[in-house]
Amino acid sequence: MASDDAIRCDACPVLCYIKPGRTGSCDRYANHQGKLIRVDPHILLDQAVSRGNSVVPFLENSEQWDGNIVRSTESFVTAIGAGTTYPDYKPAPFIISSKVDGVDMVTVVTEGIFSYCGVKLKIDTDRHLGPERSVVRAQGEAVGHVTTNEYGSQMLSLGGVRHLTGGSRSEGTVTCETLLDLCNGKPAELEIDDGAKVTVQAGKPPVVDGVQEERMRVGCGSATIGMFAKQWFGKVDEVVVVDDHITGVLSEHQAGKLLGVRETGIKLRGRRSTPGRYFQVAEPGTAWGGTNIRNPLSILGPFNPKKAWSGLRLLMVSTTGEHYAYFELDDQLRAMEKELPTELNNSVARIKENCEPALCTVMFMGGAGGSLRAGVTENPVSLTLSVRDALTRVTCGGAPVYIWPGGGITFMVDVSRMPANAFGYVPTPAIVAPIEFTLRLSNYAKLGGYVNEVRSLASISSPGNEHRDAHPENPWPLASTDAASGRKNK
Ligand code: SF4
Repeated sequence: MASDDAIRCDACPVLCYIKPGRTGSCDRYANHQGKLIRVDPHILLDQAVSRGNSVVPFLENSEQWDGNIVRSTESFVTAIGAGTTYPDYKPAPFIISSKVDGVDMVTVVTEGIFSYCGVKLKIDTDRHLGPERSVVRAQGEAVGHVTTNEYGSQMLSLGGVRHLTGGSRSEGTVTCETLLDLCNGKPAELEIDDGAKVTVQAGKPPVVDGVQEERMRVGCGSATIGMFAKQWFGKVDEVVVVDDHITGVLSEHQAGKLLGVRETGIKLRGRRSTPGRYFQVAEPGTAWGGTNIRNPLSILGPFNPKKAWSGLRLLMVSTTGEHYAYFELDDQLRAMEKELPTELNNSVARIKENCEPALCTVMFMGGAGGSLRAGVTENPVSLTLSVRDALTRVTCGGAPVYIWPGGGITFMVDVSRMPANAFGYVPTPAIVAPIEFTLRLSNYAKLGGYVNEVRSLASISSPGNEHRDAHPENPWPLASTDAASGRKNK
């Protein structure tokens, strides 16, 4: 039962009663002297023409201005801290007008509640994290799965409506927490069934089973042979680039053939795909080239005595240059390990030099559904069509998004291009993410927008606003393009 002085928050389906001085379940709303307030500052972005500091309290800075509180084309109102409306049919919290190159524009902002959302995680590492389709856990709960292995990276898919709503309450809560941490740039500790423990954080190197990854591979084993064959030619008789996917062998590879590298009688285990390219030379693992081998000779059979010779020089190296070993064949054609000659040292160093720093990339993926679209227009499908026709630009906290083709407004955004702590949650559980729709005012009217709710940016100025410099690599959300200017519709 709510006490008399508690007020009800209606910004999400939880409908918290909040006592004076307290916050609701999500810590986003509070009862401040009997008024429901959004706790966090509302973030506005300034074009990187600088105000000096990256974060400047709104009023402090406004004192230097000429009474024109916000110069509309230089500031962009994000949805971060803007608040949420619930239920769906209410207009979005802010529908802000601006003028861009003489064209009247509107930006509709709302903190969307996403039950259908997740994270696509790209982890730059050769190390085997776990078999595809294995369950990824956080705090023991299933929060996602391992998906495909990409070029030098392993992909995890976390979250999604099934983990948020389709399992136990704990599974949903932990999934939401994990997504929130990752989206807000915090680390998350994940454990993969039949695989590794990995600590991931946007923009930081992954830590796999306690070892921080440094570099992502220069290429697959075959590509590495192709790239460095010339540098090895004449300095060594045979090179094997060990790779869990495609192991390369110099003397058999087309690159070696064209250079005239002599046959060496080497015998690789695994399945030969094409000359000099072998699949499945070992099991996946966290050792040489993402395999489970610690002794590289274990992937070789005996040398063919008709082709090999005593003194044959063999370099074995992984796709990152992290592992390498040099051998020479003795009189019985046995590979004997020797110190790496200086002239080969350079080529191993070159492989390492060509490997980029290993990082984790967190892409938030969500579907803008009911409350979002209905908060923009009374005819939600018209917003979808307008986005598809590039008449409406979608941004997340001012960052550009990728819109998936096909139905709906399903988008992905790189969280590292968004302002810090842009995400929140509600305990339904769901992720709260900022989303902005920018379009020409005339188009907004045509798609059934809430034109009576349009107001100027100056009208929302308050001490609760905070200005930050826009991310320098992001296109300016109000820049005049087809989408922003509505040129297509002229
Ligand atoms: S969880 Fe947050 S947004 Fe939802 S009703 Fe409670 S305070 Fe409001």
